[in-house]
Amino acid sequence: MAAESDLLVVGAGAKAAGIATKVHAFNSLGLGPVSLKIVEGTEVAASWKGRNGMTSGEEPLAVTPIKDVGFPYQSFREFGEAGEAIDEYAMKFSWQRYMVARRRYARWIDAGSPQVRHRDYGEYLTWVLSRATQGVSHVEGRVTRVSLEGGERWAVEVEEAGESSRHTAAALVLTGPGVHRAFPHEPDIASRVFHCDSRREEFAQLPEESACDVAIVGGGESALSCMMFLRGFRPRSHFTVYTPMLPMSRGESFLENRVFSNPDEVGWSALDQTTRRDFVKHSDRGVFDPPSLAAIAYDDRCRFVTGRITDVAVARGGAGVRLRHESHEGVAGPEHDYVVNCTGFDLLAQLRGLFAEPVRADLEARVRPGLRSRAGWDRSGRRRRALRCRSAATWNCARCIPGCRSPASRG
Ligand SMILES: Cc1cc2nc3c(=O)[nH]c(=O)nc-3n(C[C@H](O)[C@H](O)[C@H](O)COP(=O)(O)OP(=O)(O)OC[C@H]3O[C@@H](n4cnc5c(N)ncnc54)[C@H](O)[C@@H]3O)c2cc1C
Repeated sequence: MAAESDLLVVGAGAKAAGIATKVHAFNSLGLGPVSLKIVEGTEVAASWKGRNGMTSGEEPLAVTPIKDVGFPYQSFREFGEAGEAIDEYAMKFSWQRYMVARRRYARWIDAGSPQVRHRDYGEYLTWVLSRATQGVSHVEGRVTRVSLEGGERWAVEVEEAGESSRHTAAALVLTGPGVHRAFPHEPDIASRVFHCDSRREEFAQLPEESACDVAIVGGGESALSCMMFLRGFRPRSHFTVYTPMLPMSRGESFLENRVFSNPDEVGWSALDQTTRRDFVKHSDRGVFDPPSLAAIAYDDRCRFVTGRITDVAVARGGAGVRLRHESHEGVAGPEHDYVVNCTGFDLLAQLRGLFAEPVRADLEARVRPGLRSRAGWDRSGRRRRALRCRSAATWNCARCIPGCRSPASRG
C-alpha cells in the first residue's frame, strides 16, 4: 500500500528546507494539517556540503545567508493575517537564530557579516530540516520514476537501501539544478573533460607540481564557482574562461532584488516575455556575483575570452584539448591541457529521467502542445534554452495538473 502525503518534494536541499519550514509553521499554528514528505537520494543538503560534486564546500555563497529559508517573510501576501503568524514562526528557522544557536552570531556580525561558504550554508539547511518536523517526514532514497494515478495524484517510485517503495502525493516539487548540459567532444579526450557537477576530488588529476592550462567554458555561477575552487586547488595553473558575452556582474541593486522578493512591485505578470527574459538574463543567467568577480578580476592567472565553444577535439600534439572557438572574429582552435564544461545545467533532465513516457506525453498535452519539439526533451548535444523563466514567473503546470511545480530560485 503506497504511503500517502499532501506534498512530496524530491530532494532535501534549499527548497525543501524552505517548504518544510512553512509546513512546520502551518501545522504548529493549527492551520494544517499538511503532510510533507521529503525524499533525498544522497544526503541532506548534498549540493552544498562538498562531497557530491558541484562544489568543494569552500566556495563562497553568492547571496547573503540572511536571505534564509523564510525570506522574504511576506506570507501575508498569500495568507493574509495568518501570514504574519507564519512568518513569526519561520523566524525560528532564520540564519540569525541558527548562528545564535551555534554561538557564532556576534562573531559573524563583528566580522562584517562576511560571505559564507557553501558548506556553512549546507550545515544551516541541515539544522533547519532537523527541526522543521511538524507534519514533515523524510525518506532516504532515490526517486526513480514518477507517474500519475487517475490523472489526479502523483505516484513516486523510490529506490531505498536496495528495495523500492511507492509513495503518492497530491502535489509534487522537483528540486535541484538538474545535470550538466551536453558538451560535444571527441571521446579520446574524455579524461581531460570535467563538468560543473564533477566531484571536486576528480580534479586531483591536474598536475600539482607543474603549471597547467585549464579552459573553463561558461559564463555563470558554476563557472565562477569552479574558477574560485581551482585557483586555490592548483595555484600554479592558468585559467581561461570562455563566455558568450563579456563577463558581467549580477545585478544586485535594490530594484533587481525587489523583483525577486516581490515581483508584483513591478507588475511582473503584466510585463511582456522579452522584458522578463532580459531581466532574468541580466540578473541571474550567465552573470557573476560581484564579490567573487572582484576576487578574480585582478588575478593574472585568470583571463576571459568572449565567444562560444562548439566542439572539443584532441590537441594537435595529442596531449591536451583543442577547442572550436566561434566569435565575431571567426573560428579559432585554441589549445589547453584540460577543459571544464560550465555551460550550465539541463533543467529538463530530471523530467526526462523521472517521468514515464505516457506522463510526459500527458504533461506535454496539458502544459504546452509541441513542448517536445521545442523544449529540448531530446539531448542531441545541441543546447537549447530551457523554457523556464527562473525568477518570478515560474514554469508551472499547476494550471493543468494539480500540485506540480518545477524549480525556480535565486535566493
Ligand atoms: C555551484 C553552484 C553555486 C550556487 N550558488 C548559489 C548561491 O550562492 N545563491 C543562490 O541563491 N543559488 C545558488 N545556486 C543555485 C542553487 O542551485 C539554487 O539557488 C537552489 O539553492 C537550489 O535549491 P534546490 O533545493 O532546488 O536544489 P539543491 O539544494 O541542489 O537540492 C537538490 C537535492 O535533490 C537531491 N536529488 C536530486 N535528484 C534526486 C532524486 N532523483 N531522488 C532523490 N533526491 C534527489 C540532491 O541530492 C540534492 O540534495 C548555485 C548553484 C550551483 C550549482
